[in-house]
Amino acid sequence: MDQKIYEIINDLKTYLDYLKGLGIVSIPMSESSLQKMTRSGILTLMEVQKELGDCKRCKLHRTRQTIVFGEGNEKATLMLIGEGPGYEEDIQGRPFVGKAGQLLTKILQSIHLPREEVYIANIIKCRPPQNRNPESDEIESCAPFLMRQIQVIQPKLICALGTFSSQTLLKTGAKITALRGKFYDLGGIKVIPTYHPAFLLRNPERKKEVWEDMKKIVEWLGRENERGQPTGEKRR
Ligand code: URA
Repeated sequence: MDQKIYEIINDLKTYLDYLKGLGIVSIPMSESSLQKMTRSGILTLMEVQKELGDCKRCKLHRTRQTIVFGEGNEKATLMLIGEGPGYEEDIQGRPFVGKAGQLLTKILQSIHLPREEVYIANIIKCRPPQNRNPESDEIESCAPFLMRQIQVIQPKLICALGTFSSQTLLKTGAKITALRGKFYDLGGIKVIPTYHPAFLLRNPERKKEVWEDMKKIVEWLGRENERGQPTGEKRR
């Protein structure tokens, strides 16, 4: 039996060397294999990012500077999902690093959650020209990668930032004023929408509501902790 396995591995190696000789250095996986691997916990974020590659699946690749994959704790209990990269994010390749991002960092600090403890991503990974709303074909191309990130991280709670993220994740046309501050279910993961930090920069009087939502998040995470899950990192 061992001899047979050895022969198979050897044949496979010879075949891969042959492909390499032809200039083929990666083999795209089928969507179903990828899904099986993410669900079984085999895939890591780095592998999802590798699969995304220098993405040209939608038209946004023509105008973007950098792909903003997302960043943070691969084992985060809390994931925050915004709309898409803005000017600063497009340059730096990191989510929420402009003015709205600085406010988001402060909001997280106010509930004693350092950015590194959570995972931050966006519905789409490339900046739309002039920060226009993402279009449906762009979301469609990008969504499988966000879903894989969610499957790898397995957060317990997602905070959807703003109208666009909330409506896309929850597949609803309802207004953010109606959605915010309530818990919804996304395949076993709780989702709580709140206002986008960019909206708060324009409407600082609405910060009070976000503060209420943050308190709900803290309470929820506390209860989750009591159920045996550490806040930042969770059991696999
Ligand atoms: N707004 C977003 O929705 N995402 C970012 O990464 C930055 C600004």
